[in-house]
Amino acid sequence: MDFASYADLAIELVNSSAPAEDSLRDLDSLQRLLKIRPHLSGRVTHRDLDAMRQLRESLRAIFAAAARGDEEEAVERLNTLLIQHPIQPQLSGHDGQRWHLHLTEGGSVPDRYAAGAAMGLAVKISDHGLDRLGTCRAAGCDNVFFDTTADRSRRYCSEHCAARSDDPRPAHAPPGPDGESPR
Ligand SMILES: [Zn+2]
Repeated sequence: MDFASYADLAIELVNSSAPAEDSLRDLDSLQRLLKIRPHLSGRVTHRDLDAMRQLRESLRAIFAAAARGDEEEAVERLNTLLIQHPIQPQLSGHDGQRWHLHLTEGGSVPDRYAAGAAMGLAVKISDHGLDRLGTCRAAGCDNVFFDTTADRSRRYCSEHCAARSDDPRPAHAPPGPDGESPR
């Protein structure tokens, strides 16, 4: 895994909270969330589930602070996570892959998840800036994302949210000929 994909751990966990399909509602759903990351698999307990929920809140709070423009708070929260979940880097060469860096080999599943997500997020922010952390503007959606557009113009988490939010009229359009105000 490279650093960028470690940062994706943070995004995926924050976005796993959709009420209809909360990935942390029980141990089975947590196992499914972890399945796509073989290096994070392992036995999980209810205590781990609680720890993952807490981690999700901590990560969301970082995006929320960034969305408010409160860079100090976002950084302080992330620095706290980095101290709580230090990385334990190891070179690894399993499954015929060339030597590559694993950030976390020891500890519980939530510890390893947190260390990877926090480090990935920190590298991403130091490379690209804190204002790259975005929150979806579509009604009823609070998914988060990294804005990788050249002009920092991304507003939605997905094509789906962009399509259902698209208003062909600009926000400052004058009233129509019949005097009706735009939506
Ligand atoms: Zn969305």
